[in-house]
Amino acid sequence: MKNNRKLIYSILAALAIVAIILIAIIFYGKNSPLSVVFLDVGQGDAILISDGSQQLLIDGGKDGKLLLEKLGKYVPFWDRKIETIIETHPDADHIGGLIDVLNAYQVDAVLETKMQSESQTFKKLEEIIATNNIKKIEAKKDVTIKFAGGGVAEILYPFETVIDINGKDTNMYSVVVKLMVGENKFLFTGDLPTTEENKLLSIGFDLNVDFLKIAHHGSKYATSDEFLNKVSPADAIISVGKNNSYGHPNPEVLQRLTQHRANIFRTDESGDIVYECININSKCERKSL
Ligand SMILES: [Zn+2]
Repeated sequence: MKNNRKLIYSILAALAIVAIILIAIIFYGKNSPLSVVFLDVGQGDAILISDGSQQLLIDGGKDGKLLLEKLGKYVPFWDRKIETIIETHPDADHIGGLIDVLNAYQVDAVLETKMQSESQTFKKLEEIIATNNIKKIEAKKDVTIKFAGGGVAEILYPFETVIDINGKDTNMYSVVVKLMVGENKFLFTGDLPTTEENKLLSIGFDLNVDFLKIAHHGSKYATSDEFLNKVSPADAIISVGKNNSYGHPNPEVLQRLTQHRANIFRTDESGDIVYECININSKCERKSL
């Protein structure tokens, strides 16, 4: 009899713990703001957009160990799923870290262009996508990803299927993504060079945004005056490694940004750069860490 009572109490206690955890998860999903985190992954790009337990990861830097460490900071421990990954282009400083992510997390879909690379990193990544049966979606204009809280990420570029799949300049077909959260707009431009920025300008998109991820780690071959005229960002975010051998960000680009009165934030100086959008009606704010 005594033993039975003990057993019942144990079961009730276990059920109570499960209920508390479930309530916490539901509460987390409903109340956490949408966040955009420019992860400090050294020389490379990795941007995590989270809306409750729904995540979109744009690129993954070069180093998988570092990326997993960073994701552990922003993805709750019980959430083992990253819904969507966008590879902007198949360069190691954008896709290298993704191999470990695909092994550690469940991933619903990977969006990439038809652009290919001869690198071992690219081949390995493609292999894991195939073995894990991950859905592949071609990244091109008009593909959208909707967040539960009302945010929408929309691919603006490439305009069509990339045909030059073994071309030398992978940057040319960098996927460009615009994220809209109510009135707030973010633009992520991968490593897109100025020649292609001009194509975006010529097509007449609404490129005016609040937050611009500066293309190609601040290389001088991107982020032209004309582009900044149209985009006129309040904040410019540069994802770049300390003392990198490319000399990124280029002083001319920094000067252009200052002339355009953009606030400049750099991952090599600030570490992770975090924006939080409390809800669709409020202004997304940079969180000081
Ligand atoms: Zn790059």
